[in-house]
Amino acid sequence: MSDLLHLMQHPGTNPKSFSSTICSAEVVDGDTWVELSESFFYPSGGGQPADHGSLEMESGLSVILDVQKGEKLLHNIGSNESDGIKLESPVIASIDINRRNVLSRMHTAQHLISAAADELFSGRTIGNQIGLEKTRIDIGIEDRSAFDKELLQEVVNDGIDQGIPVTMSQEHRSELTSNPLVRVNLDLLPKNVQELRVITIEGRDICPCAGTHVANTKEIGLIKINKVKSKGAGKLRVEYSLL
Ligand SMILES: [Zn+2]
Repeated sequence: MSDLLHLMQHPGTNPKSFSSTICSAEVVDGDTWVELSESFFYPSGGGQPADHGSLEMESGLSVILDVQKGEKLLHNIGSNESDGIKLESPVIASIDINRRNVLSRMHTAQHLISAAADELFSGRTIGNQIGLEKTRIDIGIEDRSAFDKELLQEVVNDGIDQGIPVTMSQEHRSELTSNPLVRVNLDLLPKNVQELRVITIEGRDICPCAGTHVANTKEIGLIKINKVKSKGAGKLRVEYSLL
């Protein structure tokens, strides 16, 4: 199984190009998907879209359009690209930096918004979809009348303004169970996973997370909550963008 090397990296911004080799290639529905000996690409998952980028091979440059994690970590280099592939030959892989940086800013903002919604309105995040233009977070909130969009935006932007460090650590799950800054239900994580990759925004949020993040909240820039809409009883969908 391919290792997810992006998990070793924090912050997730400005990823460097890296050398690798192509281990295997397969064509699915006309698209060629390659497995690399080492890859720092983020595969689609957890509400965060996949990295895009490029692969410099002997035969030329291919664009990486998608990355998916199944049994292998596979990189989609599009159609008509299978002819130039030589297994075991060296390649240089580059992650699209702008796309990764925006997604990292959006994703870190999501931690701050989810934390503030919990602190202010006892609203628990039940899902999210991160995007380049806009991101949505679904929040379960018993008393929807308590929700205040302006207050939420103010508290989040205040946290961004404060320049709070965002750090990564490995923690045993037993160390997290009684910490009030941990807002996710740890029981939902697979029981066999004991050591967790944890992202901490000091004083605001502690969250087991496999996504990519900035190193300091200041890097998010300010956010704007565009829309809040009902998703049925006890559920709100909050949509925001980066300013
Ligand atoms: Zn995260």
